[in-house]
Amino acid sequence: MTIVLRARIFHTPRDPFREAGALETVEGALALTDDRVGALGSLTEVQRQYPDAPVLGDGEDYLLPGFVDTHVHYPQMSVVGAMGLTLLDWLRERTLPEEARLADTAYAREVAARFLRALARNGTTTALVFGAHQPPAQGIFFELAAASGLRITSGLVLGDRLLHPALEADPETCYRESETLLRAWHKRGRVRYAVTPRFSVSCSEGVLEAAGALLRSYPDAFFQTHLNEAPAEISAVAELFPWARDYLETYERFGLVTERSLFAHNVHVTGDELTRLAAARSAVAHCPSSNMFIGSGLFPLRRHLDHGVRVALGSDVGGGTGFSLLKEGLMAYQGQMLLGSGPGGGLPLGPAHLLYLATRAGALALGLDDLGDFTPGRQADLVLLRPPEGGTLAEVLAQSPSAEASLGALFTLAREDSVREVFVAGEPLFTRLGLS
Ligand SMILES: [Zn+2]
Repeated sequence: MTIVLRARIFHTPRDPFREAGALETVEGALALTDDRVGALGSLTEVQRQYPDAPVLGDGEDYLLPGFVDTHVHYPQMSVVGAMGLTLLDWLRERTLPEEARLADTAYAREVAARFLRALARNGTTTALVFGAHQPPAQGIFFELAAASGLRITSGLVLGDRLLHPALEADPETCYRESETLLRAWHKRGRVRYAVTPRFSVSCSEGVLEAAGALLRSYPDAFFQTHLNEAPAEISAVAELFPWARDYLETYERFGLVTERSLFAHNVHVTGDELTRLAAARSAVAHCPSSNMFIGSGLFPLRRHLDHGVRVALGSDVGGGTGFSLLKEGLMAYQGQMLLGSGPGGGLPLGPAHLLYLATRAGALALGLDDLGDFTPGRQADLVLLRPPEGGTLAEVLAQSPSAEASLGALFTLAREDSVREVFVAGEPLFTRLGLS
């Protein structure tokens, strides 16, 4: 079955950090053939290829590849907006007590459903999700994620010290419960498993060793954790692992730095760590709104790219300020502006960079090479945007001098009230998720 969507279409089939002109814009149509992109071009061209396909839309909507959120916490939605705390206090005072509430499975089910709806409502079609510490709550999350139609990679969060006592589990339990969930859910529909130690502060060597053993036993599973987020965290890691020359080595020692590994934050990173991350082909989730909200610092994007480290975007709810990858794009832009020019300074970003970071870069970081742009043959994951009538965004877009300027306005002003629908693998999801 083929349908044709008329819209103003934007995508980045090439990497704008390497090539000029990587942004492609078309005022025309996109054909969806079953679960894939069939064609992209003017309405006349697309209709010539698919003369019998129904045409949807009036051409006024903005059509982007579905957003890819490479770092977000399912149990933390209600923590968004907890002000006045830096990382370790924010965890202890607000976040870990909230995560402990997921021991109540009825509450966990509510939180999981709300979280998945929030992703879709913000145009996110794929996410790498930090899960719960409690196996039943993580099982419920997988169950609802599989039913949602979204592409979710997630895992049970592991830790055995310096957490809320109810969240801690010894290394053997961490291994056994992760393996049970992995066997039940990995590669079931669009769900995949990620081995997920919380961070080295809360993980003894035994837990990190268990995580490494899981990855060796299940080499196509994913891996996620936190790295180099805040100075106090880095000092704590140095004290807890006196043998490690830096934070990254606490993961390297246990075989956790691989091309299927994604590290969140990495704000305060040494050149040597960047060299080793690049050699391992690991990826970094840049979470700008979280880094600014928690006061962790400004992300050295230029140094990452100069070293050849892969970078994508994450919302990091609930340290982040919401689920919108459009807003994360804006915050990334602002962070680089604030770093200023000159050596070690910021990397000036434009709308093409922001779109790439929010879509194709995330797909590649998650090993999902067949999504993230509209090259014919790719998975048809997309988000349809229409600004609310009479609002600031509509007014700005009406005066926009160019397609690129319109995309800049969308990153700056479009939020969840502009998202009309998301499609994953060619299927519209809002009705399934109770959003329309
Ligand atoms: Zn996080």
